[in-house]
Amino acid sequence: MQIKENFEIKPLTTYKIGGIVKRVYFPETQEELTELLRTLKNYIVLGSCSNVLFSSNGYKGDVIITSEMKNFEIRGTKVYADCGVKGPLLAQKTSEASLSGFEFMIGFPGSIGGDIFMNAGAHGQSISDCLISCCLFDKTKKEVVFKQKSEMEFSYRHSILHDSKYILLSAEFELKKLPQEEIKALIERNLNFRKTIQPSLATPNAGSVFKNPENDSAGRLLDKAGAKAFENDKVKVWDKHANFLINKGDATSEDILEMMVKMQKVVKDTYTIDLAPEIIFIGDKTKKEEELCNILYKIKTLK
Ligand SMILES: Cc1cc2nc3c(=O)[nH]c(=O)nc-3n(C[C@H](O)[C@H](O)[C@H](O)COP(=O)(O)OP(=O)(O)OC[C@H]3O[C@@H](n4cnc5c(N)ncnc54)[C@H](O)[C@@H]3O)c2cc1C
Repeated sequence: MQIKENFEIKPLTTYKIGGIVKRVYFPETQEELTELLRTLKNYIVLGSCSNVLFSSNGYKGDVIITSEMKNFEIRGTKVYADCGVKGPLLAQKTSEASLSGFEFMIGFPGSIGGDIFMNAGAHGQSISDCLISCCLFDKTKKEVVFKQKSEMEFSYRHSILHDSKYILLSAEFELKKLPQEEIKALIERNLNFRKTIQPSLATPNAGSVFKNPENDSAGRLLDKAGAKAFENDKVKVWDKHANFLINKGDATSEDILEMMVKMQKVVKDTYTIDLAPEIIFIGDKTKKEEELCNILYKIKTLK
């Protein structure tokens, strides 16, 4: 397994933001990951780094990145995947096997671990829909355990993994047989829809900034409140979808947090609705970032 010391994490994140991390591990198998989880004390596990804002100040600890854990298997209608497998690849491979259920994953770069952590979803589908069971590392007992879908506490953008007690090693899914043309048509429709309203990865972003409040859309509220006009020399709200925030090139995590606070405030002032961030802040905060996170997250952040 590759281990990098004093590693700049920025290029690995979809936001293209993030400072120096003391040590980064890239396990390739479940056994290597399990061994790390047994031995390391303080660590953060990340997949494709597409839902995180990594501090420009870096992190004086260990980060495990699962992107080299690429094993998966399709057996009949069952799919087994390591936590590092990328959603779009799995969506492509399952569509070639005439299996339906992963069409929504084609347009964003999440790993199976990040997708299950977030209960990622789009276009009326979510990762929990076709999940059967998860193989997890229990951080308290320091052992591998299995959980059925019913024990994973899934809800909108939430799973039991938010408790920080478990790390996902792999997952088992059951998909549905459908004619390949139908699956490909659905994928095409999803991709076209994304292209019309969302920034591509060439424009650094981390997907939706805020979660949708109950029975409403964060993008709609931000748009109506005037957030599409928010722009400075470092960051800008995407003009086709107000819940996307773009790094114009050399933004820092502080620049993003400042704009997030401004976006949250305009919706609060206009509609008295508190938007909760979907993006997760990771790493060592500056004093200013501590203050901004306290406003934004109100509840808690990972680190
Ligand atoms: C252009 C774009 C479009 C997007 N569109 C969507 C969308 O339509 N729907 C949607 O839901 N999301 C979307 N996202 C957001 C993001 O891709 C998803 O949330 C995805 O599930 C995150 O996966 P990841 O591997 O990148 O997670 P990361 O960003 O690496 O991590 C996210 C969280 O998961 C935790 N985690 C990662 N791996 C593990 C593991 N093995 N065990 C335990 N915890 C783990 C991390 O600690 C972190 O807290 C989009 C992002 C982008 C950039």
